[in-house]
Amino acid sequence: MHSSRTFTAIAVALGLAAVACGGGRDASATSDGRLKIATTVAPITSIVANIAGERADVEGIVPEGTNSHTFEPKPSVAELLADADVVFVNGLSLEEPTRELAETSLASAADIVELGTMTIPESRYIYDFSFPKKDGKPNPHLWTDPTLARRYAEIVKDELAERDPGNARYFAANYERFSAVIDELDQAMRTSFATIPQRQLLTYHDAYAYFARTYGWRVIGAIQVSDFEDPTPAEVADLIDQVKAEGVPAIFGSEVFPSPVLEQIGKEAGVKYVDELRDDDLPGEPGAAEHSWLGLMRFDYITMTEALGGDASALRAIEPRNVAPDNAKYPQ
Ligand SMILES: [Zn+2]
Repeated sequence: MHSSRTFTAIAVALGLAAVACGGGRDASATSDGRLKIATTVAPITSIVANIAGERADVEGIVPEGTNSHTFEPKPSVAELLADADVVFVNGLSLEEPTRELAETSLASAADIVELGTMTIPESRYIYDFSFPKKDGKPNPHLWTDPTLARRYAEIVKDELAERDPGNARYFAANYERFSAVIDELDQAMRTSFATIPQRQLLTYHDAYAYFARTYGWRVIGAIQVSDFEDPTPAEVADLIDQVKAEGVPAIFGSEVFPSPVLEQIGKEAGVKYVDELRDDDLPGEPGAAEHSWLGLMRFDYITMTEALGGDASALRAIEPRNVAPDNAKYPQ
């Protein structure tokens, strides 16, 4: 088979690159051949862990429960980055300080892979109230749309296979299993969403714009302003009028961004205020089955479906799980 010859050539090339880098820092795989992978937010860490399984070391950088949009890595993160063979970031300007630190810390043979930026072309970027076009930062939350998360996983699979050809078939098999899980989730989401009288979303943190476009929801508002402060009293008054006019039964806050303002809108508009959506803080504790990208999607979409008067039994029937052992480190 000519492919094994190609793999050998790549392995030799990587070996040479490692030697050329010098300084005692092995820039390709570590001496035992395991890739060292750094990631940023927890959903990306989970997607990478599902592909890498126990055949690579995966470590996240952004602690769960912090504001990932403004997160500044400690200088000590440079050490983790210096040892990494690959850094997977979301891109679309989500983690600029971390990406900049990676650029100055990474070994020369290492890669920064921007998953979101590689997933959709600029023509598909969404700009809105929280991510206005004038700031030049598109809405970065692609991973809450399973159809786009599948592409993240595919990019991870391809990158790992290229870096570690000996495990390419293992990564490919994990990707196939993960893709099947996404099919199952996608079906359950469509079944559950079909039972919701009005698929309308008013959220505090603006994490569901791409999801809404794919699944036929209308985002009537996402009220967190672009500097992550609260909206003005005039904006709040407008939103109260809009919520009353739309007749939605519930509005959604975020577990990472508790919002007294959204609570006030809920009270004054006479609708339920659900403050537990999560965009990058996985449910449960590391090691638990629900502490996974799938667990996060299942939790959010059950929460939305039920709060809006739908039947989420199809989503509840999905078992939160990973398709490969998740040994990644998730900073808390
Ligand atoms: Zn976010």
